Amino acid sequence: MRSTVSPGWSLEAAGVGLADARTILTPASGFIRRYRYSLNPYSGCRFACEYCYARAFAPTAEKRQTWGEWATAKRNAAALITKACRDGTLQSGDAIYMSSATDPYQPAEHRLRLTRGILEAILDAGVQPRLTVQTRSPIAARDVDLFQRFEHIRVNVSVTTDSEQVRLRYEPKAPAIKARLRTARTFVDAGVSIGISISPMLPVDDIEAFAEVLASLNAAEYVSQYMAPPGPIFAAGTLPATLRMAREDGWGLPQYAKAREVIQRVLGPDRPLLEGDEGFAPA
Ligand code: SF4
Repeated sequence: MRSTVSPGWSLEAAGVGLADARTILTPASGFIRRYRYSLNPYSGCRFACEYCYARAFAPTAEKRQTWGEWATAKRNAAALITKACRDGTLQSGDAIYMSSATDPYQPAEHRLRLTRGILEAILDAGVQPRLTVQTRSPIAARDVDLFQRFEHIRVNVSVTTDSEQVRLRYEPKAPAIKARLRTARTFVDAGVSIGISISPMLPVDDIEAFAEVLASLNAAEYVSQYMAPPGPIFAAGTLPATLRMAREDGWGLPQYAKAREVIQRVLGPDRPLLEGDEGFAPA
């Protein structure tokens, strides 16, 4: 890895392993099939969202069961990207989705600077992909200086509810909603194009106020989804227990559809609230 790990910090305490990956760019398919590659700097994810479909792609049954309790940093990721840029595997104009099965700004990224190293390697190689970054982590704001150097970029910030209680119930280890909104604002103020992913939309306390807050960010794109059972968009889907939890919370498809109507009304006719495949277009 190009950047150094700060002393006094332990990978073990952070619940993060290190491994060499064979590849870092994966040909994209499924809901991101319009991209050329997905790029996952980590495998696993410490944010532990109850609805996470990526759990299904963990390599073993044990890892699926303990999803949210582990993450592995692909320590040679920047070197692999440099090689891909040099040998023409990655070229300017290629659409990259970072990330499809993790959040590229894991808590450990603060110290490891692995994702930052990947971005630096791409820029140093003079390659300008069409980059979509998908995150809910305030650590991403650290890299705003690099995002500004990409000619085609959209940073999609996941804002799934207005309620911290709901967030704790469905995303127990993920960053607070207010922190995500502040992060999105940082990008907007720096001139970096953002998307707002209300995906999946979780129970919302005050849908009018939530819609106003999101609309005020002036994102380039707004996307919502309901928690997906396995199907054409998310082949893996959300665990039945989590779908049951949502139903118990009075949050089913009819409530989601009503909330979508409110958000769309507040956004106005020029800013469609996308859904399904439409919400995963490259930057
Ligand atoms: S942040 Fe994304 S990858 Fe991580 S647990 Fe949540 S939904 Fe899954």
